Amino acid sequence: VLRLESVRKTFGSTVVLRDIDLSVPPHTVTALIGASGSGKSTLLRCANLLEDIDDGAIFLDGEDITDPRVDPDTVRRRIGVVFQAYNLFPHMTVLDNITLAPRRVHKVARAEAAERARELLARLGLGDKAGEYPDRLSGGQQQRVAIVRALAGKPRLLLLDEITAALDPELVGEVLGVVRDLKDQGMTMVIATHEMGFAREVADQVCFLDAGVVLERGTPKQVFGAPEQERTQRFLRRFA
Ligand code: ATP
Ligand code: MG
Repeated sequence: VLRLESVRKTFGSTVVLRDIDLSVPPHTVTALIGASGSGKSTLLRCANLLEDIDDGAIFLDGEDITDPRVDPDTVRRRIGVVFQAYNLFPHMTVLDNITLAPRRVHKVARAEAAERARELLARLGLGDKAGEYPDRLSGGQQQRVAIVRALAGKPRLLLLDEITAALDPELVGEVLGVVRDLKDQGMTMVIATHEMGFAREVADQVCFLDAGVVLERGTPKQVFGAPEQERTQRFLRRFA
């Protein structure tokens, strides 16, 4: 679904991603792990064309989306993103938060957008929250609404960046449960996370980023069970 080829990204004189190769096959989950500042969020932002890359190419379903002739908006419609801070509009109900983009961007009729939103809300255990305002929901519920919003456009791919980082520990589980369900339903996802236990459980592929390089990659069993690189070992020891 997603493929990065020799992607390089700099901010001024700082090289943030160097020569990143990454392949995300359909219906798989890729976990990006690594220390703060290693480039996980930047990689996700590049994949969603929120950042321009300096070199290399990014392919979505085989199409080079970094080709300057490609309209970023049409690409973003095919990709759902959820970030750490849920960014729901406080003055809008849950339902309006979710249906805004489908109606405006995808030109979906109001009734159809609402129907899909209600169906997704029910699936994520929020069936009774459509009329609520975000500040009346718990952090975990708000984050689940943000996931519903990302799913509302029927994306090919979900990019999730530290979606549990802002949550109280007791709320983390419900959000991770949703990701687990999406995986079971075959959603293709790339997840930046500091939740090593979760990455180990849910990922098909784990990539350890170190200073903008994929230093090590493999199945969770390989990367967590028998890391080859000394730096990976040192990073993982912090979570042991
Ligand atoms: P964390 O685990 O803390 O979320 P991360 O792996 O997501 O970290 P990034 O946010 O991708 O790391 O940042 C990678 C590097 O890029 C950092 O050194 C950061 O300072 C730098 N960086 C990120 N965004 C910008 C920007 N807009 N301008 C300049 N430098 C940036
Ligand atoms: Mg980050």
